[in-house]
Amino acid sequence: MTRGIRAIDLPGTRAAYYAPTTVTSQPPKQLDPCLGQPGSLVNEEVPSDYESQIHLALLNLHKVLVAVGASIADIARLTLYIVNYDPQRRKHTRHIQRFLRSHRPAITLVPVSQLACPEWLFEIEAVVAKPPAIPMQLTAPNAKVWDVVVIGAGLAGLTAAEHLIQSGHSCLVLEARDRVGGRTWSTTLPDGKGTVDIGAAWINDTNQSKIYQLAQRAGVEFIEQKYNRKLPIAGLDPETQKQLVAIRDMAEADCQQVGCARPEDSTLDSMTFLAYLKSRQASDRAISTAAIWTRAMLGQEPEDVSALYFLNYCKTGGGLLQMRSDRRHGGQYLRIRQGTLSFAQTLAAALPSGTVQLSSPVTAINQQYPGRVLVRTRNRTVQASKVISAAPSTVLPPLPTRKQLLVGSFNYGYYTKAMMVFRSAFWVNKGFCGLVQSFTGPASIVRDSSIPNDDKWVLTCFLCGDSGRQWSQLQNSERANVLLDQLGEIYGDPDLVRREYVTIVEHEWSKEEYSGFGCPCPSLSPGVLTVAGDALREPFLDVHFVGTETAAEWKGYMEGAVRSGERGAAEVQKQQPWLICRTP
Ligand SMILES: Cc1cc2nc3c(=O)[nH]c(=O)nc-3n(C[C@H](O)[C@H](O)[C@H](O)COP(=O)(O)OP(=O)(O)OC[C@H]3O[C@@H](n4cnc5c(N)ncnc54)[C@H](O)[C@@H]3O)c2cc1C
Repeated sequence: MTRGIRAIDLPGTRAAYYAPTTVTSQPPKQLDPCLGQPGSLVNEEVPSDYESQIHLALLNLHKVLVAVGASIADIARLTLYIVNYDPQRRKHTRHIQRFLRSHRPAITLVPVSQLACPEWLFEIEAVVAKPPAIPMQLTAPNAKVWDVVVIGAGLAGLTAAEHLIQSGHSCLVLEARDRVGGRTWSTTLPDGKGTVDIGAAWINDTNQSKIYQLAQRAGVEFIEQKYNRKLPIAGLDPETQKQLVAIRDMAEADCQQVGCARPEDSTLDSMTFLAYLKSRQASDRAISTAAIWTRAMLGQEPEDVSALYFLNYCKTGGGLLQMRSDRRHGGQYLRIRQGTLSFAQTLAAALPSGTVQLSSPVTAINQQYPGRVLVRTRNRTVQASKVISAAPSTVLPPLPTRKQLLVGSFNYGYYTKAMMVFRSAFWVNKGFCGLVQSFTGPASIVRDSSIPNDDKWVLTCFLCGDSGRQWSQLQNSERANVLLDQLGEIYGDPDLVRREYVTIVEHEWSKEEYSGFGCPCPSLSPGVLTVAGDALREPFLDVHFVGTETAAEWKGYMEGAVRSGERGAAEVQKQQPWLICRTP
């Protein structure tokens, strides 16, 4: 559908996140004023925290947009009403920019002394130019009708396809990229020796049983993450350490109270993770530590994520401590010498030839009547009885209201791994394990990713959240330099670090359209789980949804992707028992 709102700029206004004015490039079906939306969640209650109210007001506006069949890209104009507005602390800009993504409506800010209710601190109003509906023209092909078409050849899609084919279904996998594996992507180092994982790298051999089984099937070699107590965190006085432990244990205890598959706690969901920390009297230093968690796990800052979403994310991996751990049972215990791309390659190789069609991005789906779905790629249309969407963002508008709201609210963080290759493991020689956590960045986390058998010595720097985004704005030539400066400072020997340095390998997932322009897993801002969380795994007619973001165990991880693929296949098998007995 062609969207009609276009920003009109004057000299010098193009850099702003709003436009001086907008026009519609096609006559809109109608102009809808969306009346003022305050930051309330359920029962008209509003959280006391200002930023949480902004998130909830934006969610309420989004709900209205979806209800009238419009999208964020149809907003022509916004009016913001802010109580006790302070030009020095323009906290609304961050959240409104993220909500609008690259869309630029005209925006008016109106400082007010009070809104309709004394506890309201923020209200937002929009004018929306709803575009005329354009009926989708998809011609039914005469060719073969597939039992199931799977969209996306990542671990979730390939797992679903394997299970369905094993149970006798005909299956076609359409993959947008020219390779399988999605967010797993391994590459050989520039000298041709040794592999690094640009995407997912770590697994474990206990509670990640599905991915471990697949790794064994792929016949890979495991490298245990080295962990010892010597971490280069200096200058933490005993009182600060006590505060850090207290906040960590509190978050761990709270996450253990949250449900895995369907978390419900509207109070926790009405606030950002930052507001949650502040409500528990976390000190500034403790908040800085917690910011490392949201950055390292989601590429997000604590003010951008719902407290309930973050705690549930941790819970799906057994808890905050287990997810962050480099020891046995933890999220970062084993690496793969050959790289994790070998997992998807193993799955794809086991499918009948021609099952996976690469370079075939799906652009539209049309559910014609029960049991008949048309799926369009750039150059053809295929027909199936069922579709499994295993791509991070679905290509299926319009969806039922709650699903549309949920999918439209998924937000990807900034997350880049920069692999710094060295001549030797100088950090090990100094008695360190290579694990670093930094409050300041640019790298928030550093981990040893060496492959001793290949004589490869690598420190992987995780550039995540705001500090990662700032780093990404540097010239390419400067990026390695600032990381070398950071490592030099951490290890107290800048000359040694530069002497041992060989090269950097990095890739920005925020530029990857088919990974939702971010990674490793989308997150949700306050309120969305409460109003639309149920829709996460709900099929829509003959379309089923899988992918790591839908997992109830190890959400955001390869384990979650495989488990979700199994669930999707089981859903289809359950609804189509007549197909199970058929000979392939
Ligand atoms: C930098 C990074 C580090 C990570 N670290 C770890 C880790 O250490 N351990 C761990 O377990 N996990 C890690 N993860 C997460 C892990 O990679 C993912 O959870 C997992 O690979 C997701 O699999 P998936 O099949 O759900 O999605 P994806 O791998 O994203 O697969 C979706 C597929 O759909 C395709 N697609 C998208 N749109 C379309 C379309 N329109 N038409 C057709 N195809 C389409 C994509 O190209 C892709 O191949 C990391 C991820 C990243 C990016």
